[in-house]
Amino acid sequence: MSGGTRRLLPRNSVGVLRTRSKCEGVQEELPGGESCPKRRSKKSSLKVAYESQPNERNIKDPQHCDLKKSKWEPKDWREQLENIRELRKGKDAPVDEMGAEKCFDRSAAPEVMRYQVLLSLMLSSQTKDQVTAAAMSRLKEHGLTVDRILDTDDATLGQLIYPVGFWKSKVKYIKQTTEILKHQYHGDIPDNVEELVKLPGVGPKMAHLIMDIAWNRVSGIGVDTHVHRISNRLRWVKKETKTPEETRVALEDWLPRDLWSEINWLLVGFGQQICLPVTPRCEACLNRGVCPSARPKEGPNLSRKDKRKGAPSGATAVE
Ligand code: SF4
Repeated sequence: MSGGTRRLLPRNSVGVLRTRSKCEGVQEELPGGESCPKRRSKKSSLKVAYESQPNERNIKDPQHCDLKKSKWEPKDWREQLENIRELRKGKDAPVDEMGAEKCFDRSAAPEVMRYQVLLSLMLSSQTKDQVTAAAMSRLKEHGLTVDRILDTDDATLGQLIYPVGFWKSKVKYIKQTTEILKHQYHGDIPDNVEELVKLPGVGPKMAHLIMDIAWNRVSGIGVDTHVHRISNRLRWVKKETKTPEETRVALEDWLPRDLWSEINWLLVGFGQQICLPVTPRCEACLNRGVCPSARPKEGPNLSRKDKRKGAPSGATAVE
């Protein structure tokens, strides 16, 4: 998910504000040049005053504060990131052609575009991008607005979105969500994560992506199965995480905020083309020399087969 062309509005500067600790933010946040931590009072003794000079100089130096408070970050992550950028520069993964930011009607009214972003992300869960894009295309042809969907019976809606993953549940969620949008949001979508996750069928990953694509605000990292898997393979999490939500929290702890939007787009496409779920193509990966999970040429598969039980035909995996 890169760059501005896919966004509905220019980037809101609020989205890139970074919260800093008092120590890191001493130059910006404390009034009157007050230092952090508070400067100790000097004793009149010559010896004490002389010995305290180097410490005072260091305390006023924010770089010194940063060194003392240096946060954990993964080994080699900058090199790994650059390698992934290089591998992704062709922008030819399914997500580049058919991701959620490609599926809405750019000539529609802003609230309709936002509704379509929400719908495409609801459909995309547990579903290949190609299948989501085809369903979105049928929906747009049918008419993809709040009122039109409320006027559509469940059976017809099911036929329009089939075979997206868990299509029967999604029919129910789409109807319930659309009803809420109509009556509580005047046909628009909520503009914050807290309210988005209250909509039926919308989880945290989806909510952060909706905020980014529909509202142009970076509220958090959108972690799907690709971002979750690759973050663990590259050891971008301090200790192994079990769920995408755990991975999101772990990544947001160290990854610079200005990369939060890009990272989803980068890793999803990387996961679709190179770092595949079952048989990663390590031989074609620029990270093979710096990846703790790189497998030997004829090595065993890294992960268990992740076919999803009970998923409808044609919508088993995102890869
Ligand atoms: S070396 Fe293999 S496991 Fe590591 S990032 Fe590349 S494809 Fe994935």
